[in-house]
Amino acid sequence: MRTRLTGWGRTAGSFAQLDAPATEEAIAAALRAPAVIARGLGRSYGDAAQVGGGLVLDNAGLNAIGPIGPDGLVTLGAGVSIEDLLTVAIPQGWFVPVTPGTRQVSIGGAVAADVHGKNHHVDGSFARHVRAMRLVTPTGVHALSPEVEPALFWATFGAMGLTGVVSEVTLQLLAIASDQVLVDTDRYDDLDEVMAAMVEGDDRYRYSVAWVDCMARGRRMGRSILTRGDHASAPAGDDPTNHAPRAARLAVPITAPPGLLNPATITAFNELWFRAAPRHRVGEAQSIGSFFHPLDGLRDWNRLYGPRGFVQYQFAVPDDAAETVTTAIARLSASRVPSFLAVLKRFGPGDPAPLSFPQPGWTLALDLPVGPARLAALLDELDELVIAARGRVYLAKDSRLSPQHVRAMYPRLGEFAALADTIDPERHLTSDLARRLRLREG
Ligand SMILES: Cc1cc2nc3c(=O)[nH]c(=O)nc-3n(C[C@H](O)[C@H](O)[C@H](O)COP(=O)(O)OP(=O)(O)OC[C@H]3O[C@@H](n4cnc5c(N)ncnc54)[C@H](O)[C@@H]3O)c2cc1C
Repeated sequence: MRTRLTGWGRTAGSFAQLDAPATEEAIAAALRAPAVIARGLGRSYGDAAQVGGGLVLDNAGLNAIGPIGPDGLVTLGAGVSIEDLLTVAIPQGWFVPVTPGTRQVSIGGAVAADVHGKNHHVDGSFARHVRAMRLVTPTGVHALSPEVEPALFWATFGAMGLTGVVSEVTLQLLAIASDQVLVDTDRYDDLDEVMAAMVEGDDRYRYSVAWVDCMARGRRMGRSILTRGDHASAPAGDDPTNHAPRAARLAVPITAPPGLLNPATITAFNELWFRAAPRHRVGEAQSIGSFFHPLDGLRDWNRLYGPRGFVQYQFAVPDDAAETVTTAIARLSASRVPSFLAVLKRFGPGDPAPLSFPQPGWTLALDLPVGPARLAALLDELDELVIAARGRVYLAKDSRLSPQHVRAMYPRLGEFAALADTIDPERHLTSDLARRLRLREG
């Protein structure tokens, strides 16, 4: 079926043949196509899960979930969503060790982006919890683990599908005693205060995230709401049965008209959000859904950005370049390019994957509607800032980086490309992202 595909930001669509091979044999046959890439639930923001004029392999058919062992190990198909996994796992007292801000992400997509959650400073990214996986490449099927073919195992995390199609993953789950999270919330009037509080709390909180108001100016620039917490231990006498997350009850039915999200409406939204948060609250019990995946309550919310879509710009910088976060927010606030509340998190040590995004320090994610003429120049400027700080931009969110900038941000790209050539010498595996950034050329 020939289909137009985009990422979650709904920019830069392209047409491709869409198939959904459900066995490794069928995937291997499909990988003979001259230009081919896997696709999960389309939650990467840019052009990673599409290839114009080529073949896109939807992983939805790889949907088996094996039994969860007493040690919390589970083997599952790469097309299983985090939502499906949680539906099975939470009632048995298990949780995914790392979850992004939406549970509408497939396991294959989680591996390919090496996703992180609010707990990177404690638990690392997805790769740290994967014990084994099966990878179908144009030259054969590989059973990988940190011990067996470690170079290909690690290279697959953050590879954005360019080492092959992951068919199956064995994941170590996290034991939980309750489906509630105990959350502390604090409001801060400026960015320095919230950043100091986050560093100070690194050792005390498993989960930590700050929402930053990038529309506030002057003394209130960078005002933030910090939420931190951990899984609750079950209260005595509680029914040990935990509850699975609820599906979204509301949906955005049509694409919003252009300009709905403009500086005035976004400033008003940010103001409401900020005022709704308590100044200081301790130990509030929240459901897993509302703490980890608040946006999943509103299906298709990306349509609110209108027909031109939006860009998410997420960067990471080391601790000694914390001022890059402040400078980026100051430039954004001064530019009046509208931006919803930005998300600020802490990162702990990265992993051995050559293209994995997280590195110790800070990460900031900005949601920016496409439209303002100054947006492109502003983001190019931020790229330069990030490079000067020895940081990088997240490929799973990207739709506009340049090949030069990506090489400065990911110095191990050459090593990655050489490895990819060993399992795919004719370079069948490619995507619009890979073509734009020349990722297969190293
Ligand atoms: C609201 C929202 C919040 C988010 N929050 C976070 C966050 O907190 N942290 C974070 O890290 N990310 C976050 N993301 C990004 C998201 O987690 C990643 O982009 C993830 O890769 C999406 O998975 P997917 O199944 O939708 O994959 P897709 O977007 O369809 O594909 C992403 C990449 O995975 C590859 N891929 C998919 N399946 C396979 C497979 N079987 N084998 C090999 N490669 C495959 C594709 O080729 C592509 O390169 C968020 C996204 C949204 C929309």
